[in-house]
Amino acid sequence: MSKIKLKTPLVEIDGDEMTRIIWSMIKEKLILPFLDLELKYFDLGISERDRTDDRVTTEAAYAIRDYGVGVKCATITPDAERVTEYHLKKAWPSPNGRIRSILDGTVFRKPILVSNITPAIRSWKKPIVIGRHAYGDLYRGVELVVDRPGRVELVYSPEGGAEARLLVHDFKGPGIVMGIHNLDKSIRSFARSCITYALSEKMDLWFSVKDTISKKYHARFKEVFAAETAARRAEFDAAGISYRYLLIDDAAAQTMKHPGGFLWALTNYEGDVFSDVVASGFGSLGMMTSVLVSPNGQFEFEAAHGTVRRHYYEHLKGNTTSTNSVASIFAWTGAIRKRGELDGTPEVTRFGETLERCVIDCIEAGIVTKDLVPLMEPRPPRHRSTEEFIDAVAERLAQSE
Ligand code: NAP
Ligand code: MG
Repeated sequence: MSKIKLKTPLVEIDGDEMTRIIWSMIKEKLILPFLDLELKYFDLGISERDRTDDRVTTEAAYAIRDYGVGVKCATITPDAERVTEYHLKKAWPSPNGRIRSILDGTVFRKPILVSNITPAIRSWKKPIVIGRHAYGDLYRGVELVVDRPGRVELVYSPEGGAEARLLVHDFKGPGIVMGIHNLDKSIRSFARSCITYALSEKMDLWFSVKDTISKKYHARFKEVFAAETAARRAEFDAAGISYRYLLIDDAAAQTMKHPGGFLWALTNYEGDVFSDVVASGFGSLGMMTSVLVSPNGQFEFEAAHGTVRRHYYEHLKGNTTSTNSVASIFAWTGAIRKRGELDGTPEVTRFGETLERCVIDCIEAGIVTKDLVPLMEPRPPRHRSTEEFIDAVAERLAQSE
């Protein structure tokens, strides 16, 4: 059987701990035997980031910018404990944060659905994808404790202009204050990334804030989304998708009765909350993928979960693990399908779809890792090890060729 050739190199970003173990199994058993591809490999394992003073992370981000599509393994974001554990020079910043800031991208989380795992919300039949704005608001807020009576004002001192003052509150007793901000440029990039994703996945786009109450701050988000979607109207029509603005509370209520199949764009705080609502509503972390989309149309695919540290320690002790590799496999298939789409190579896209089908067929046949067993109806009699699951997928893949 001849291998399917990828025209353009794929950027591969390796990572840490249990996901690094899974990563090499996926590559060895599900990718390399079937595809003829050039991988631009970057090792973002914590030791290599430390050795290169984190230059490797920047290089990986630039490679995604240059080649357009990357696939990334989960990585450790070191804290003080990890600095000791891995003898690091320092607690390097989050690689995902660094890559996101270089690509100016937005992260979209998408659940993988199978027929024998019912979401907690019965109406959900298709994925609900959350697009969370990753800049500003609460996360760049400044806060003040007011401990006695006094006036709090917002003061704006424009360069070369007259100062503007706005009374926040005339405090008669103790209280609290917060100042938040956002940037037109960042909101626009966010809107563009959401539009790129919605068009790429052919999913309706929803955006919601509370502009009836916040007539300037939230209203600005709504205006930017209205302008950016209007500018791409022809592409929305061609893709057969729509854009809807809803008030946040209306959107939250509608989501609970909706069959799904849409992208819900949200500001930073609402996105934080609702991505966890949606993720737990759909089932397991091991079944959640994540894609970073830049406003210019570059894509980085990964699993939404971390490095599954506890399982890795079991693995190091020589114990058998049962770690779910589905989200990591779908990171590969997402990247491969996107590469096929951008290169105009339908056989490459088809391979990605076939591999996804093999994974879903295994799960629907009751071949699953331990995390899925309690979620399944009917319950499978036993679970598979990390490697047994990947082997079962590989067997189906070989038969499907
Ligand atoms: P985690 O990797 O998300 O895992 C937390 C727990 O969730 C696991 O112990 C396991 O529960 C369950 N779980 C997650 N993924 C699973 C899978 N694929 N299969 C089966 N169970 C799964 O979080 P963590 O172990 O607390 O974090 C480890 C490291 O990941 C941290 O250093 C953090 O910085 C990093 N992280 C990286 C990313 C990223 O690169 N995108 C994202 C988040 C975290 P049980 O133990 O109960 O089986
Ligand atoms: Mg959160």
